[in-house]
Amino acid sequence: MSFDQIIGQETIKTILLQTIEQKRIAHAYLFAGPDGVGKEAMAIEFAKAIFCEASQNRPCNACSACRRIGSFSHPDFFFLFPSNKSVTVENERAVLDSLMEQPYCRTPIAGNPTISIDKIRELRRIGALKPMEKYRVIIIAEADRMTAEAANSLLKMLEEPPNYTYLILCTAHINALLPTIVSRCQRCRFGFLADAEIEKRLIDSHGLSSAEAQKIARIAQGSFRRALDWLQEDLAQQREDAVDLLRCCFKDPMAQLQLVEAFTTRYDKGALKDVLGLILLWLRDALMVKIESPATKANLPITNFDQLDTLQKFVGAFDEIDIPQCLIEVETAIEQIDRNANLTLVIMALMHRLRSHFQLKQYVPEA
Ligand SMILES: [Zn+2]
Repeated sequence: MSFDQIIGQETIKTILLQTIEQKRIAHAYLFAGPDGVGKEAMAIEFAKAIFCEASQNRPCNACSACRRIGSFSHPDFFFLFPSNKSVTVENERAVLDSLMEQPYCRTPIAGNPTISIDKIRELRRIGALKPMEKYRVIIIAEADRMTAEAANSLLKMLEEPPNYTYLILCTAHINALLPTIVSRCQRCRFGFLADAEIEKRLIDSHGLSSAEAQKIARIAQGSFRRALDWLQEDLAQQREDAVDLLRCCFKDPMAQLQLVEAFTTRYDKGALKDVLGLILLWLRDALMVKIESPATKANLPITNFDQLDTLQKFVGAFDEIDIPQCLIEVETAIEQIDRNANLTLVIMALMHRLRSHFQLKQYVPEA
């Protein structure tokens, strides 16, 4: 079946297949939507479908064109992603190799990678030439990371689209793109994936048990990339650490500092954000457990459904918890980490602010 590599996003699949069948492919597409829901994966499959030599059910994934695009070795297929000057050609090839294996993975170039004007100039130079074969497809991943000069240069390319060339821009931050770029592209809105869609892929392609797949799918919150991240991580350990951090609010400042320093030594910025993300999910679940009547608790749509008892104990240990305010505090801490604030200071301040939103009963629970 065509596009069977892609999880969900059925409406977009249908639209794209129709445009190919009716030979009405637009010069430029904008695949916009959250991270990890398959924008780049869909762009690669769409490129295959444009080039595919099969008479129907394109992309066939068997013909020479499909295989060469799949291995990023087709002379008329270009995949641009944010990078920086210190990155070697070999590093960039390694990113493409990992995408070849797993099109839902990230394109991990460290630091603050951008798409430079040089890369776009090179595209425009290539665009002025005839394709080696029939068409040319250019995918730009994380297009919002174009520098201002690069974006202006791309805009010129969109204003006078080269013949036989199809551009696909992907972004999770559409507002960071020039409106003049957005308006020149045909937009496809990607949504979050359903838990059941993520679960099925984890079972079918990653051999997970149904229970394990369900747990990871809930925590992935609609992003298959996040589910893949959790496959690599020790989810149980990180969840324990998240609850430990919450408990830490009630310790004296010295003990807090020790624990927080141990955390910031063990976890880098990205992993610490993941742990804070788990605290958010834990607090949201706690809110649901708190407001629902006991009768309906067994069927609550909570993320940590396997921890219902612990959640109930957690909620029961306090006279009052201002959970909405706690959620805001954790989200603020995540933003501060994004802006490269000192990790220990951010978490210490978070502990202090969270503490003020809890009214403890007599004892600290073994939550
Ligand atoms: Zn094919």
